[in-house]
Amino acid sequence: MSTASILRVENIEVIYEKVILAVKDISLDIKTGSIVALLGANGAGKSTTLKAISNLINAERGEVVHGHIYYQGKEVTHGEPHQLVRDGLIQVLEGRHCFAHLTVEENLLSGAFVKRPKAGNLKSDLELIYHYFPRLRSLRKKQAGYTSGGEQQMLAIGRALMAKPSLVLLDEPSMGLAPQIVEEIFEIVCQLNKDEGVSFLLAEQNANIALRYADYAYLLENGRIASEGIAERFHASELLEASYLGR
Ligand code: ATP
Repeated sequence: MSTASILRVENIEVIYEKVILAVKDISLDIKTGSIVALLGANGAGKSTTLKAISNLINAERGEVVHGHIYYQGKEVTHGEPHQLVRDGLIQVLEGRHCFAHLTVEENLLSGAFVKRPKAGNLKSDLELIYHYFPRLRSLRKKQAGYTSGGEQQMLAIGRALMAKPSLVLLDEPSMGLAPQIVEEIFEIVCQLNKDEGVSFLLAEQNANIALRYADYAYLLENGRIASEGIAERFHASELLEASYLGR
């Protein structure tokens, strides 16, 4: 992991419908090559923070973002979402959103619509995904709608990887999944981080698993950062124990 930042978020605030202050004065620093966890209970503001970064906030509905976001040293606040994808910043939305009627392989190919400088040919890019997700190889001809929740989560991550990202924002990868498959997904994320150098910002309610794989963590409470630190040490944080794990 380098000491340079791939993403810096400075004092962002997100307002929904002119009055709901969903996220207040949030600053984050994601080092290049790291895995960072954004923890918090339901409604703490995790998804809103990710949406602000990838600019999926809907200005037409009166949603507003204040503050500054820098990706690879360049200000990208209010940047065009498709340009961010082209620049290698990709979000895997909560709920996976695979194309149910397309096969697993067609879904993966749909992720390659953005031709990035790092992209190889489609066949070798697919091979790389199948190398990390062997389950997807065996399911490649199956309609995505008939695969399990865990397989769809793998597919959503695999599809994002087809665009050769440098930073992936993963929203609740463990949501609704059995512990064994969650473990498998986090193991693969860790491998992708180590071997391919992809950085990850993971929004997670499941602090136990996220802290085992992350380098650094932020805890959100009611739209604010309540605590932050190196993930290993975070485990022992009394604040986390008391206010979040409910002990
Ligand atoms: P979850 O795990 O449930 O997605 P979260 O930590 O990701 O939780 P957010 O979804 O970011 O939290 O929600 C933060 C706050 O903003 C909540 O109070 C939520 O009700 C509110 N909120 C989220 N989206 C909207 C919206 N489109 N319009 C109005 N309020 C919203």
